[in-house]
Amino acid sequence: MRSKESVSIALLVLILLGYAPLAQSQSRPFLVVIDAGHGGHDPGAVGYYGTQEKDVTLTIARFIRLMSLYDPEISVILTRSDDRYIPHRERTGLANRLNADLFVSIHANAHPRHAAANGIEVLVSDDTAQNNYPQSRELALLLQRRLTRALGVTDRGIKHQRLFIRWAEMPTVLIEVGFLTNPQEELKLRTFTYQWTVAEVILQTIKEYLRRGPR
Ligand SMILES: [Zn+2]
Repeated sequence: MRSKESVSIALLVLILLGYAPLAQSQSRPFLVVIDAGHGGHDPGAVGYYGTQEKDVTLTIARFIRLMSLYDPEISVILTRSDDRYIPHRERTGLANRLNADLFVSIHANAHPRHAAANGIEVLVSDDTAQNNYPQSRELALLLQRRLTRALGVTDRGIKHQRLFIRWAEMPTVLIEVGFLTNPQEELKLRTFTYQWTVAEVILQTIKEYLRRGPR
């Protein structure tokens, strides 16, 4: 689809959503907290063309929330919906307080040496003894598969790292949606089509995972 067409379609969707009656969120079976990485004084990674990670993550998070507004299955709460910095403890703390089903943090990647590094990685906490580790790993594998297929990008596999998401008490992953340090990928990450597709795939995959129920 040409990008002008997709922008028009998105605008139409936004207008229609704006006129629809407010949905009741209480009756929805799933509650998910989506975290837009960085924010405020912390830009995160900055690309060759000046794209800031905090802006890319916020747009994708807002798209996910927007798509969920009239979805009868899922409620999406954002850790931030504007350009502000929120400490990591507060981000996971919100998910814990709400007793969310999942905590999903969205980031964009940087490679300090290889400008050519590209593709998607889904990260899980390296604390494999945590109760939520098996479910987090399963969600990570599913997201990795769905995102790389839908976007046609390099599948870098899931990664284990010591991350703040270990403070979340529910299944949790951190998604690196692409490399801002790769100028070609940076240009893609700035487009509406890429951001909208990432958001759509994340939301659909989360629902697919939650529908399966605990294993
Ligand atoms: Zn980041």
